[in-house]
Amino acid sequence: MKNQNKVFVLEGKVQHYQWGGFTYLPELLGIDNPKGEPFAEYWLGAHSQAPSLIKNDGSLAELIANDPAVLGEKVKNTFGTLPYLLKILDVKDMLSIQVHPSKEMAVKGFAAENAAGIQPTASNRNYKDDNHKPELMVALGDFWLLHGFRPVQSMHKMLDSIPELQFLLEVFGDGDYKELYKEVMEMSQEEVNRRLGPLLERIVPVYEAGKLQKSAPDFWAARAALTFKNGEDIDRGIFSVYLLNLVFLQKGEAIFQDAGILHAYLEGQNVEIMANSDNVLRGGLTPKHIDVPELLKHVSFHAVEPKVIVGTTLNGFEKKFFSPAADFELSQLLIEKDSSKSLYTPTTDILIVLEGKLVAEEENAGSQNPIIVDKGGSLLLTAEARIRLESPTGAVLYRATVPS
Ligand SMILES: [Zn+2]
Repeated sequence: MKNQNKVFVLEGKVQHYQWGGFTYLPELLGIDNPKGEPFAEYWLGAHSQAPSLIKNDGSLAELIANDPAVLGEKVKNTFGTLPYLLKILDVKDMLSIQVHPSKEMAVKGFAAENAAGIQPTASNRNYKDDNHKPELMVALGDFWLLHGFRPVQSMHKMLDSIPELQFLLEVFGDGDYKELYKEVMEMSQEEVNRRLGPLLERIVPVYEAGKLQKSAPDFWAARAALTFKNGEDIDRGIFSVYLLNLVFLQKGEAIFQDAGILHAYLEGQNVEIMANSDNVLRGGLTPKHIDVPELLKHVSFHAVEPKVIVGTTLNGFEKKFFSPAADFELSQLLIEKDSSKSLYTPTTDILIVLEGKLVAEEENAGSQNPIIVDKGGSLLLTAEARIRLESPTGAVLYRATVPS
């Protein structure tokens, strides 16, 4: 019988995107960073772009392909693969404003780009796979993001308060989100420069003098102007800094982003879980490709009242962050010093230790017991694993699974 053991040490992959910080992920993972590279994301999962590796064995993607039973009956039959991707992010510089497609639109878009012969790595490629990408993030410290269009009243107040944006009040009217967003995304670069130039001339010196608070959109607009400077041309994503809700999350607070919700991570560290996909349509704050007509097909043009999810503690040590997504479920596990907790997994779970040291003991396992996992380490638990979790220090873990 293969795979007698159901618990494995798992190793994820670091993505060195330009916006990443230099110290948070290296410290968490115990990696040196002598060249001062940006460490943006740490991926745990089976996505074809960066599948995690199982210690002394192949990749997680291969394990599942060779033996789909490790997913458990339900996930095997519903998804046929690991449906989620778990990440740790360190956002030093703000990310692009983006939206993720629905499942239906992703299937269509991926097929269309394949048929058009656009290479997977081409800069004008929108669809990396055929999956949707709802996502849920939990802040690991102070975290700032843009999330969904401001409700009507808040939008009126915001546009009215910025003299250079007052021209948009008429476009928006009583709540025409589509016209408003089309206006700023379709206007010529000349007009973007003409509209935003005076605004930036006014706020950038105030930002540089350290006189703006992070709770003010001006702070992020000015920072964006300095981050995404491209000669004389101004990034049109700066309009969206004012049109979207500016959300602050404290450590342990979560937020869910469904298909169609415009968002941008501005600053901080988080743990993020999403459907197994890398499909992103960008809407500014980036030097990368923006396909405006394609983007507009995916944006949900309605008001969003941000809902902060604080989590629900179920059995004394596991706090779940519920979302409507069927592809994933994220929870935080608190293992107190010298306590012992049991966990049973109906499907393939991933655990990552963010604080402290974990001792995991698989019931009925062979010689590998127990497995000691230090901060930054991860475990893969295949279906029907039963493990006991202990900690000599006290430990904080995050658990990725699929709702049962
Ligand atoms: Zn996103």
